[in-house]
Amino acid sequence: MASAFWCIVEDDRAGRPKKVTGEVLGEAARLARQLGGQAEAVWLTDKATDEGLKQLAEWGAARVWLLENPALAPYRGEVWTPALAELATQHGVQAIFGAVTARQRELLARLAARIGVGLSADSVAFSLQDGKLVATRPVYAGKLLSKVTWSKPPWLATLRPNVFRLEDPKTGATPQVERPAVAIPQGTMTLAERKEEASTGLPELAEADIVVSGGRGMKGPENFAILEELAKVVGAAVGASRAAVDAGWRPHRFQIGQTGRTISPKLYLGFGISGAIQHLAGMRTSKIIVAVNKDPEAPIFKVADFGIVGDLFEVAPLLTQEFKRLLEK
Ligand SMILES: Cc1cc2nc3c(=O)[nH]c(=O)nc-3n(C[C@H](O)[C@H](O)[C@H](O)COP(=O)(O)OP(=O)(O)OC[C@H]3O[C@@H](n4cnc5c(N)ncnc54)[C@H](O)[C@@H]3O)c2cc1C
Repeated sequence: MASAFWCIVEDDRAGRPKKVTGEVLGEAARLARQLGGQAEAVWLTDKATDEGLKQLAEWGAARVWLLENPALAPYRGEVWTPALAELATQHGVQAIFGAVTARQRELLARLAARIGVGLSADSVAFSLQDGKLVATRPVYAGKLLSKVTWSKPPWLATLRPNVFRLEDPKTGATPQVERPAVAIPQGTMTLAERKEEASTGLPELAEADIVVSGGRGMKGPENFAILEELAKVVGAAVGASRAAVDAGWRPHRFQIGQTGRTISPKLYLGFGISGAIQHLAGMRTSKIIVAVNKDPEAPIFKVADFGIVGDLFEVAPLLTQEFKRLLEK
């Protein structure tokens, strides 16, 4: 279909698409409708599941292009990119969207280079002007928003998680599944060993609706237990500033900011974080920002919706207690 907006599926490696794919499909469907087109999912995987396919249809995928092959796992850019490029070229697609996740950032950049089109990375809004897509993306660590457009299709973009709305679920929708014949190239690298860190039992940082984050003011790794306690009560993920990560208190995958993860939760609570521009680059699009800092002049208060000037070691346990009381009601 000429005005098809393709959305690359991000899954949990067990056949379940992640919520961020629903957000990407939601935005793609809204845009495609204005051009008389539709949102479609493209799923590259070694094992799809019926529930996964159904989920994609409920999120608004009018069609699912399924490339299911053992050679597609684990993700390798040199294997996925040619397969996806061949499929996109065969079908004259209008747009290809992905999420701002580690692998889709890389995949979409590779794809843009391979098919010779532009990519709007880390997009936070879209509009259609005279039938052409215009994307908004933050630049200079979020200080400015720039608007970009494409000189030719397909329009490639990655979308920041937690910014775009899911469509109302199309309960009971069944997907139209296509299994196209596409050559899957041999990988030049094979996986020697995979080590997965033990799950924290808390939501994934980029996808969490609530993020509790700690900085140098936490004073040591052991004190992050205070934030984990609060996170458990409110169902949050725990993040950190670079100062806390550089000190070895948290692994790098929990770092928020310019050289870490970009998050847009509904609620961000920062404890002992000064609010350096590089940290703000990763969280300033959060819907509500709460900052706890003992220094009333800390720059984070300039972007905070609510600020508490105080000692985090007193404030955090009080907040935990209060949330517990409220949520148990
Ligand atoms: C190229 C580059 C990239 C960078 N990328 C990132 C990035 O991705 N993410 C990032 O976070 N930073 C990044 N930085 C580093 C950034 O500039 C800051 O140094 C860092 O964010 C500071 O972390 P912080 O706020 O935890 O520490 P600090 O700036 O030291 O702030 C600690 C705060 O804790 C408060 N505090 C102390 N004790 C308490 C207490 N008991 N109760 C309440 N408050 C207390 C203090 O008042 C202070 O405001 C980058 C820097 C560069 C140059």
